[in-house]
Amino acid sequence: MVKLFPALTKAVASGQISHAWLLTGNTGILTEQAMSLAQALLCTDLQVSGEACGNCTACRQVMAGNSADLQVISPEGQSVKISQTRRLKHYAALESYSGSRQVILILEAHTMQVAAANSLLKILEEPPHNVYFILTAPVGDSLLPTILSRCTWVRLPQTLEADAVIEDNAEYAKKARELVAKLNGDASSLLLFSQSFKDDKKGGLSVRAAVRLFLQELLGIFRDMAVLGMVSEGEKLLKQKITPVCNGGTALKAALEIENSQSLLEQNINITLLLDVLFLRLQDLVKKQV
Ligand SMILES: [Zn+2]
Repeated sequence: MVKLFPALTKAVASGQISHAWLLTGNTGILTEQAMSLAQALLCTDLQVSGEACGNCTACRQVMAGNSADLQVISPEGQSVKISQTRRLKHYAALESYSGSRQVILILEAHTMQVAAANSLLKILEEPPHNVYFILTAPVGDSLLPTILSRCTWVRLPQTLEADAVIEDNAEYAKKARELVAKLNGDASSLLLFSQSFKDDKKGGLSVRAAVRLFLQELLGIFRDMAVLGMVSEGEKLLKQKITPVCNGGTALKAALEIENSQSLLEQNINITLLLDVLFLRLQDLVKKQV
């Protein structure tokens, strides 16, 4: 097994393990890193460094390719098919063979057909206890934003000398909450906020990809507000620390505006302008409470 990037061993050693990982980067190292990560997650005698021991039964089974707790999915022909992700659902519902973790590795996840991705999404939305997913793809932009927003995204560099970058998608959820809080303020602060995406170049994520994740989170907030307005049951919102800024009907209209912007984003449109228009429309809706 190859050595894991330090960012990965650190995450494993700290025990702060995400239920879903997305590894992107050079295809030459992706599969090896994904397999080593799977082994580290299953190892029963993990080293302090976060590396797998290589000697325990779990390690030996992974290395021999006969671990019952590791399921590896790769494209059948050109793509990962819905029949494959459907099978995962049954697999994930089973108890772990060894009574501990199970790992599902989806290689070349970007080849997933939309139906396959949607069936995977259902599992990722409520990941079964002790089931961990590792997805690989050349670039993050190639996955559905709904999948991306549920993964801890690790960008692997070409060599072990530079460490991997762990992209925290929670950042976009935070940005979405920030915007919602600004909607009751003045328009100029909204226009400044849309500018902030233009300068968001960290980690090489394209502006379009960043905005895609942001809009996905924003849509989630307004959908939750719409539900809250309709069933007057605020548990979910309270958990996310979101204060409703509008009634259910308004939230639904806001959600439609966001969905419209999501489809416009995929066309060759000026992104700052797109956000300007969206933010001002949302503010209008929130202030009028239509
Ligand atoms: Zn081990």
